Amino acid sequence: MSLAGGREHVAIPGPSVIPDRVLAAMHRSMPDIYGDELLAVSDEIYVELPRIAGMHDGRVFVTISNGHGAWEMAISNTLSRGDKVLVLESGRFAVTWGEMAAFSGVKTEVLHAPERRPVDPLAVEARLRADITREIKAIFVVYTDTASSVMNDIPAIRRAIDAAVHPALLMVDCIASMGAERYEMDAWGVDLTLAASQKALMVPPGLGFVWAGPRALAAHRHADLRTGYFDWTARTLDGPHYLRYGGTMPVAHLYGLREALTMIRTEGLANVWARHAALADAVRVAVEAWATPGGIELNVVDPSARSNAVTTVLTGSIDATRLSEMCVAQAGLTLGTGIGDLAGRAFRIGHMGHINPPMILGALGTIEAALIAMEAPIGSSGIAAATRSIARALR
Ligand SMILES: *Cc1c(COP(=O)(O)O)cnc(C)c1O
Repeated sequence: MSLAGGREHVAIPGPSVIPDRVLAAMHRSMPDIYGDELLAVSDEIYVELPRIAGMHDGRVFVTISNGHGAWEMAISNTLSRGDKVLVLESGRFAVTWGEMAAFSGVKTEVLHAPERRPVDPLAVEARLRADITREIKAIFVVYTDTASSVMNDIPAIRRAIDAAVHPALLMVDCIASMGAERYEMDAWGVDLTLAASQKALMVPPGLGFVWAGPRALAAHRHADLRTGYFDWTARTLDGPHYLRYGGTMPVAHLYGLREALTMIRTEGLANVWARHAALADAVRVAVEAWATPGGIELNVVDPSARSNAVTTVLTGSIDATRLSEMCVAQAGLTLGTGIGDLAGRAFRIGHMGHINPPMILGALGTIEAALIAMEAPIGSSGIAAATRSIARALR
């Protein structure tokens, strides 16, 4: 039978659940785009965005796009035809970002992380040491890879670059992780960071963000891939307000984003990160309880490299497609599917943004019920383990 009536829960790793407050803030008539009210909203956003990324020295840019648009803004403003980029693969997304650079005439080389593990900083150091001619101009890496749920150690990668005394720009994709995981752009020595609105930032898809530090801004001066729309120089803060957005502002999204950033500021960024960690722990202990040889298993081997925004679960002999179908059709829970190499062999639980124990325990309990209904092998009760984990966090 189907029990799916009621509010459906979409637990995919983005777009994530949008708070009612954000939706309400967006649902309004359009103000005068030349007026002071909208400028004030925009100014607030331009103050908050550097804070959530830990950037004090540099500039933030907002693109009216998804994350792919932020990738393109990063590429076109810093690189030139014939430059080389070292792409640090740990799942899927850095490679796709690299393919976009290749499309524009940038040479790319992919350095693969060991399977189910994060990028190895020693391998990065060795590759950069071998780059005698300093051909590599930038390094692309994803903080949380949303396919594998690997979280890379960005400070360790910075130390590897420094150990090789290599000048390449360090560019980090935080699309899945900004607002979910601790991130300190300046302190970690990151030159460029990017994100998008629809994951832990709790706003519908449609905004991309690029934080450019001093070295990225310097590279912009001689980049030859610059285009009119994404150009950082054209997006001046000194001229009319619309120039920040390359044209008419994405008005409704700006109201929604201001509301989401207010929610983050009110909760406190450190608390937001701690909440994500506590809820991600609950997911991980549940999966570990379900685990059996040949059955369910966490994809990421190294505990310190597991994302607090998304968890990828390998299903072994259990039919992942059937599990997802049962959850959505009969219980109102949409899970993320395995993507790339993991298609049909995994599912993913998004736990980013506007989430709390009822949502996480509800999702885990529903998955467990479906596993039992399918007569799938499970070790022990994941929901019992998750409940104890949440109880420890409440104490
Ligand atoms: C979602 C995601 C993307 C793609 O973002 P779009 O908004 O779909 O372009 C890129 N990188 C990471 C790490 C993501 O999680």
